[in-house]
Amino acid sequence: MNVSASMTAPEFRAAGTDLSERRRTGVSKGPVVDLVLPGDDGIIWGDDGAATIGAFATIATIAADKKMNDAYPGVAATAAGLATPQIRHLATLGGNLAQRSRCWYFRNPHIACLKKGGNDCPARTGNHLYSVAFDLGPCVAPHPSSMACALLAYEATVTTDRRKGISVEELLGYSSDGRADHALQSGEAIRSIALPAPLAGERARYKRAISRSYAEWPLVEICARAVIADGAFKFVRIAAGGIAPRPLRLTTSEAALEGRPVSEATIASAAKLAIDGAKPLPMTGYKLELLSGLVRDLLTQIAA
Ligand SMILES: Cc1cc2nc3c(=O)[nH]c(=O)nc-3n(C[C@H](O)[C@H](O)[C@H](O)COP(=O)(O)OP(=O)(O)OC[C@H]3O[C@@H](n4cnc5c(N)ncnc54)[C@H](O)[C@@H]3O)c2cc1C
Repeated sequence: MNVSASMTAPEFRAAGTDLSERRRTGVSKGPVVDLVLPGDDGIIWGDDGAATIGAFATIATIAADKKMNDAYPGVAATAAGLATPQIRHLATLGGNLAQRSRCWYFRNPHIACLKKGGNDCPARTGNHLYSVAFDLGPCVAPHPSSMACALLAYEATVTTDRRKGISVEELLGYSSDGRADHALQSGEAIRSIALPAPLAGERARYKRAISRSYAEWPLVEICARAVIADGAFKFVRIAAGGIAPRPLRLTTSEAALEGRPVSEATIASAAKLAIDGAKPLPMTGYKLELLSGLVRDLLTQIAA
């Protein structure tokens, strides 16, 4: 959809599970366009075994799909683990990726913040208990999308009605002014997400640390995949959510695993390196311990 520069850009509504709350509180104002993407609500399989997921596919569809669970267990497990059954039944993959920040200052209509055109980030000097542990810029809200974390681990690419082959990193890369949650242009709609064909013998897992067992965004979450052969890690991808303004690849841990023998010592060293580059805020140091612990647990499960 093209929006003339003189208009206030409308905000799309897919299932509305995120947008409706922001409309109700007045955080989102202005025109809304109900998005209907006929034909973009399923999963298409290529001859090479690669999946392309329509932006209108629901999270529940992705979680329940048998082929997804076999070919992309990290994606299916992430979908099964987020929000509640009711939300998963309605929420779309496109809406999950483009959902706005969960920061309580952003969600409060009476408080200005960078993401609402304000001059600074009130969480930085205020209560930032659930904020980032990798402080990458002015806004300290972690990116809210669990599916983005999984899709980053799978090196998925996104197609919109204007562009093809956008990496998850590019789509959700951190804007240096901290104002945006994604790099979609005004009026640009996500149409589909393409996953590369699974590697032979690949294993994957997803795990989250959460302050209550249900209906909450995680404090920290990890999606990891690996190919293990001849007693060694041959290929590893690890992505983390809840810790930075964008989903983050743990490349230092990946490098510490690839080519190394599968052992407790290798895994322990990679888990320790997971916090490489971290810059916690005064209240978020606890997330580093969670991050290391999740990496260790997940890799141990994958290697078992
Ligand atoms: C209690 C609770 C717990 C939750 N826990 C988690 C969690 O752990 N992890 C997690 O990831 N999420 C969680 N969520 C959020 C939930 O996953 C999102 O609200 C949902 O995925 C949004 O999808 P939707 O289709 O309803 O999007 P909408 O609410 O319709 O839209 C959300 C945003 O995306 C934009 N948008 C929607 N579709 C497109 C598109 N195709 N192209 C471009 N822009 C688009 C809209 O304009 C809007 O700004 C939770 C929600 C609740 C209520």
